[in-house]
Amino acid sequence: HVKDKGKGDYRFFTENMSIDSANRLSLERDLRLALERDELRVYYQPQVCAQSGRIIGVEALVRWQHPERGLLYPGEFLPLAEETRLIDELSERVLAKACEQVGQWIRGGHTDLRLAVNLSPLQVEHPRFVERLIQQLEAFDFPAGNLEIEITENVIMNDLDQISQKLRELADYGIRIAIDDFGTGYSSLNYLHRLPIHTLKVDQSFVRDIRNSDDGACIVNAIVAMAHGLKLEIVAEGVETDAQLHYLRKLGCHQVQGFFYSPPRPSEAIYLALQQTELKVAAV
Ligand code: C2E
Ligand code: MG
Ligand code: MG
Ligand code: MG
Repeated sequence: HVKDKGKGDYRFFTENMSIDSANRLSLERDLRLALERDELRVYYQPQVCAQSGRIIGVEALVRWQHPERGLLYPGEFLPLAEETRLIDELSERVLAKACEQVGQWIRGGHTDLRLAVNLSPLQVEHPRFVERLIQQLEAFDFPAGNLEIEITENVIMNDLDQISQKLRELADYGIRIAIDDFGTGYSSLNYLHRLPIHTLKVDQSFVRDIRNSDDGACIVNAIVAMAHGLKLEIVAEGVETDAQLHYLRKLGCHQVQGFFYSPPRPSEAIYLALQQTELKVAAV
């Protein structure tokens, strides 16, 4: 049968084509339209100082407000965006929106507020990655020192020499570099002192495993101890309970991020939270 939503763009399906591939084709076409129609949204999740409760930064997390399917999460469309190479355009949009929004907050008085953005492997591998990133920051007049890029260990291990040169250039420009999902990739620890890395983000799977004196806690202890030794900042991801927060605070984990404080939310909600934590902290 024929699917013909929008612009006379017909796609023919044979009976034995799986629902999944039909679904995939319609999603791919929709993703192209999403860029045209500006359906991508950026949500923000606070990164909170474990000691003071102050919001130190926000991580930008992309969402897609699909006209029929509702709000879609990155897991539902990023793999497709990578396959179809729409990821470059998508990422540019996300970065543009985030720089514009967070730039406003920074200029409005939250001068040290950090913006953390996720980069996909394909983006980082692009030969003009560094140049394009810096161009974009300059276009939005976004202060480099307020930006932290998040990459995973697999990106680094893919091509250590190339990556190391790119990260060096970005770090020299003032951009901070974080390793996302730390401890879950295929990596050696060797790169940690060879590359200009500022932050380790402890993966949420390790945080979830903190239960009194569980084995899971051992891994978190080791990561935090290592980060202290290497003078890296630590952000624990996926903090959901008071017990986890207390444990991490006692260990000397600098920042926490997770549902305990706030899920990723639209900018209006985050702006309110920003104003409120400033008030709370000022009152202490
Ligand atoms: P990530 O960068 O590791 O982001 C953390 C994910 O954990 C987010 O999922 C967030 O919503 C979720 N999360 C935060 N706190 C908690 C918690 O307390 N408990 C639990 N269970 N989950 C929590 P999300 O937004 O679905 O994003 C998934 C992944 O998609 C991200 O993982 C990141 O790798 C990728 N991603 C998101 N936005 C972008 C983007 O703009 N560009 C690129 N390249 N990747 C992105
Ligand atoms: Mg991240
Ligand atoms: Mg992560
Ligand atoms: Mg992840």
